[in-house]
Amino acid sequence: MLREGVALVRARGIQSDLDLGPLVDPGVAFTGDPLLHQRLQHMYDAGAWVLMESALADLPADLRWLFESGAVTLPQLAAMYRALGATSAADIGAALEDGRLRDVPGVDEQTEKAIATALPALRAAIPRIPLGRAIGIADPIVAMLRGAPGVEWAMPAGSLRRGQDTVGDLEIVASAADPAPLIETLSHHPDAGRVLHRSARRIYLLFDRAQLGVRFPERTDAGSALWRLTGSVAHVTALARLARQKGVELEHAASEEEVFERLGLPFIPAEIREGADEIAAAREDRLPMLVSRAHIRGDLHMHTSWSDGRDTIEAMVEACHGLGYEYLAITDHSPHAAASRTLTVDGARQQADEIAAMRERFPSMAIFHGCEVDILADGRLDFPDRVLETFDLVLASLHDAAGHDAARLAQRYEAAMRHPLVTLITHPTNRMLPYRKGYDLDWDTLFATAIDTGTFVEIDGAPGHLDMDGALARRAIAAGVTVTIDSDCHRAEMLGRQMELGVTTARRGWVEPKHVVNTRPAAEVRALIRSKRRK
Ligand SMILES: [Zn+2]
Ligand SMILES: [Zn+2]
Repeated sequence: MLREGVALVRARGIQSDLDLGPLVDPGVAFTGDPLLHQRLQHMYDAGAWVLMESALADLPADLRWLFESGAVTLPQLAAMYRALGATSAADIGAALEDGRLRDVPGVDEQTEKAIATALPALRAAIPRIPLGRAIGIADPIVAMLRGAPGVEWAMPAGSLRRGQDTVGDLEIVASAADPAPLIETLSHHPDAGRVLHRSARRIYLLFDRAQLGVRFPERTDAGSALWRLTGSVAHVTALARLARQKGVELEHAASEEEVFERLGLPFIPAEIREGADEIAAAREDRLPMLVSRAHIRGDLHMHTSWSDGRDTIEAMVEACHGLGYEYLAITDHSPHAAASRTLTVDGARQQADEIAAMRERFPSMAIFHGCEVDILADGRLDFPDRVLETFDLVLASLHDAAGHDAARLAQRYEAAMRHPLVTLITHPTNRMLPYRKGYDLDWDTLFATAIDTGTFVEIDGAPGHLDMDGALARRAIAAGVTVTIDSDCHRAEMLGRQMELGVTTARRGWVEPKHVVNTRPAAEVRALIRSKRRK
C-alpha cells in the first residue's frame, strides 16, 4: 500500500493536503486499494498531508528513540518502568536528575552517562506531527473526556498546547476522581489502532501512526503535572529555579493557576511559555493581553470552488454566519497561481453577482469580494488594474517553491506592497509544513515598507502554512506592522479550526487585539482598506 501511495504522490505531483481533495472527492471513483483511499481521506480530514511516517513499535515514541540511540537495552527500559513507572523520556530524565535512576536494578553509572548524552539529542530525532493533524487527533479525545462523568478538567499538554507548528508528544492531562473507567473506555476507542501502554493512571494509544498519551495524575497533583508537561523545558526549568529562590514548591498543586499563585505571578498563557522573556514580563506585570478567538470578527482569506476550494460561495458564507462573523472575504486564486483551478476575469464578474445575492440573504454580514493575486516574476500582479479595482480587497502572494534568490523575492514583495490596490501580503514566508522551509528574506526592510505603504501582513492559519509563525509575527508587530489573522480555508467545515490555528500562532507571537485588522468592526476594516487606496 505504501508503494502504491508513493507512486500516486509522484504521478499526481501531490505537495500538500489541498492536492488530496480531488482524490477523495466522493463524486469520483477511486481505483486502487480501498485502504489507501481511506488513509488519504483521513489525512485530508485532518488537514495535513504526511508523506512518510516512522515505523511502528510497541513503545512510546521517545522511549523507542532512546532505545535506538543505543543508550539503553530493552530489559533496562522494562526495569525502569517497573521500578519508577517511567513511560516517557521525560520521566527518565527526571529520574536521572534526582538520582532515582541509580536505584534501578541493572542500571549502572555507565548507563546513566549514556542516557544523559542521548536525552538532549532525542527531542530532535522524534518525528514531529504538524499542529493541524495533532489537533485533529487530540481534540475529539479532549472533548470526550470533558463530557465524561467524574472528569473535572482535561487539557492538551506539551507542544500541542503551546501551539508549536509541529508537535512532538501528543499528551493530554485530565483530573478525575476515578480514572479506571476512563482508561477502559479509551482502550476501546474506535479510532485507535492499538494500545501501546496502559497502567492505573496512564494510557498510550496509537492513532494512525501518531502516539497519544492520556495521563490522570492524582487530583491533588494534576495542576503541577499539567504545568510541567506543558513545558517548555526552558520555561519549567526557569520557574523551578525561581521557586527554589523563593522557597516555594511547585509540586502538589491541584490547578495550574495555583502553580503561578505560589510564585506570586500572574497566569502565563501556554503559547508564550518559551523560557525566554515571558517570566520577566510576568514578574514586572507587563504580560501582553493576547488576542483570542473571541476577538475575531471576521475572516479575510478563503477559497471557493471558483478556484481550488471545495465548497461554493454560499457554503462558505453560511459557515461564516454560523461562526458568528460580522464579515468575511471571498478571495480566490488569480489565473497564474499554481492551484488546481483558478479564477478568470470572466469568473470574477460572475462571482460578483453571486456575492451580491449572498449580501441580500445575509444582510447582517459584510461580504467582501476579494482575490488572492499572484505576484508575477517581474513584480507585476496577475490581474490588470482595471480588474483589481473591481475587488473590495486584494491579497497578494508568492507561491514559488524554491530556487529563487532572496533579493528578487523581496523586490517582488516590495513592488506588490507599493501597489495601491494591494491590501495585504498573505503567508509571507510561503513555507509548507513540514516539508518546505519558508523564504529567508530581509524582513525588517519588508516590514518597514508594509508600514510605509499601509499594507497589512498576514498570519495564515492553514495547517500547512501557519505563516507568519509566532517568532516572525512578534518581530512584525514590534516593528509596527498591522496584521490580519485568516483561515486561508478551502473547505467550509475547516473555517473554524483554521482560524483557531491562526489565532494560536498569533498568540505565540505575543499579538494583541490592537495589532489585528480583523478584530475591528467591518466599517473600520473598510476604512482601513480605503485609506491605502487613496494614498
Ligand atoms: Zn496562497
Ligand atoms: Zn489562499
